[in-house]
Formats: sequence, structure tokens, C-alpha cells
Amino acid sequence: MAVDLHVHSSASDGTDAPDLVVAKAAAFGLTALALTDHDTLSGVPAARGAADPLPIELIPGVELSVDHAGVKIHMLAYFLEPIPGPLQDRLEALRIGRTVRNVRIVERLNELGYPITMDDVLRQAAGDAVGRPHIADALVEAGAIENRSQAFVNLLGDGGTAYVERDRLTAINAIELTKASEGVASIAHPLTINTDAVTLRTIFGDLRDAGLAGIEAYYSEHSPAIRTQLAAVASDLDLVATGGSDYHGLGRPGLQIGSGRGDLVVPDSSLEELRERRP
Ligand code: AMP
Ligand code: ZN
Ligand code: FE
Ligand code: FE
Repeated sequence: MAVDLHVHSSASDGTDAPDLVVAKAAAFGLTALALTDHDTLSGVPAARGAADPLPIELIPGVELSVDHAGVKIHMLAYFLEPIPGPLQDRLEALRIGRTVRNVRIVERLNELGYPITMDDVLRQAAGDAVGRPHIADALVEAGAIENRSQAFVNLLGDGGTAYVERDRLTAINAIELTKASEGVASIAHPLTINTDAVTLRTIFGDLRDAGLAGIEAYYSEHSPAIRTQLAAVASDLDLVATGGSDYHGLGRPGLQIGSGRGDLVVPDSSLEELRERRP
């Protein structure tokens, strides 16, 4: 039996509504699904409503962009109820930070000769966490580029000509807020952290000491060898080997809920071990 602990819906930058994401996960036969939209829990009630009559458990979560020791990390926070709480109460400020940045990116794009407006961007978004993927979609609609990922190559990606920073939590702050909200934190797609293998291990150890629960070993874009290696690192460091597809619907073509690019399996034990780490 398998789970998927990293899935986006149209509450952020996925293209499937939260209830459709749940229906797809249940049809695939998953026992549990974590909805981990960027900086918002607004998809959770609809996802829960869809999961209730089905033999699938919905784990509420979010994905946060954080800083640590000069590098950017994505952090998944699980078991985060959509009610007031220490981390929950910070999400709105993070979404406002997105808006500030989106406006600046659109200004940059206008200077570069791409005539899109914030209204064009907001029309691409169905939820309350708007970001670069929606700006990319507006560029596609304007006929400036072919697809989302093309926009990240030279324009919107880190170091791109229209790239603008945004406010982030520190990793340690994010872990502390997650724990204070009775959640558990795991590092998403650790190989996208821009550092060397030795520093990466140091980061895992330091963040474990700060209360990190897991690292995402079973990830769509990891080879089977990397998944095994990261699961061994997790075990060495007393961290849970977690996993998920990072499904975004049409936002990431070729990537399915549960199976990723076809070969992903996230064991039920990942979720059970995470559950044991709840404060
Ligand atoms: P933002 O949340 O505005 O910082 O945008 C980051 C999001 O853009 C990531 O979480 C991905 O969902 C998406 N993204 C990043 N790089 C790419 C890419 N090369 N192609 C498509 N989507 C991407
Ligand atoms: Zn995303
Ligand atoms: Fe991510
Ligand atoms: Fe993600």
C-alpha cells in the first residue's frame, strides 16, 4: 500500500481542484494523501470533504520556502489543521509577500517588453497563493512563451532576468512554528538545495537538532539509487524518509499522483513514522 505526501492543487499552483486531486489519489488506490499547497491551507476543507466518503486519509499540510545558512530550502509541514495557530497565522503574511513580489516581477517583465498585467496573472490563479507559475501561465496566454517551464529558464527562475526575491521564514523558525502548531516538518526535494553533499548532511543534522522530522527521499525526480541513498541518510540521522510526487496537474506534465513519473512508491510506513513524531 502506498501514500503520496506532496501534492499541489489549484489552491496554489496545481491545476486540479482539491477534490479532484483527492479523487485521483483514491482512484489510484493510495491509502493517504497530503495536500501541500504553497503557503495556504485553503484547499484543505474541500479536500477533506472529498476524502471523507472514500477509503483515503487526507493529511493537511503546506509547503514553505525557507532560508538556512545562505541556501534556499522547501519545507513541508504536515498535520497542520486549517484553524488559527502559530504557523497558520503566518501564512497570510507569506501570501502578502508573494503579492508584493509578483507585482515587482510583472514590472520587470514590462521593462523587458512582456506586456502582461497583474490582472492577467490573477486570472490564471484559482486560489489564494499566487506565484511565478501563474505569471508563467499569463506569459503563455499572451503568446510570449510555449509553456510554464520555459518561463523559468531565462526569466522567472533563480538568477533569471525577471527574478525577484521574496520574504521567507528561516528553516529553524519554520520548524519551530510547525511544532508549535502540532505539526511535523520534512525537507522537500533535498537535492534541489544548492550545495555539496557534505554540507547537505550537515544541514540535515543541524535541522534535525532543531526539530526536523524527515527528508523527502522518495521523490519523482530522484533516481531509484538516490531514493535508496537518501533513505539510508535519513536512517543514519534518525530522520523519517518521507516522499511524494509533487503533482501539479498540467503544471508539471508527465507527473502523476502516487506514481510520479511511473516508478515512485512511497510506503505507508513513511506516514506512520511521521505520525509518531507528532508533538
Ligand atoms: P513561487 O512559489 O512563486 O516561488 O514559484 C515556485 C514554484 O514554481 C515551484 O514550487 C514550482 O511549483 C514552480 N516551478 C519552479 N521551477 C519550475 C520549472 N522549471 N518549471 C515549472 N514550474 C516550476
Ligand atoms: Zn508549486
Ligand atoms: Fe518545492
Ligand atoms: Fe511542491
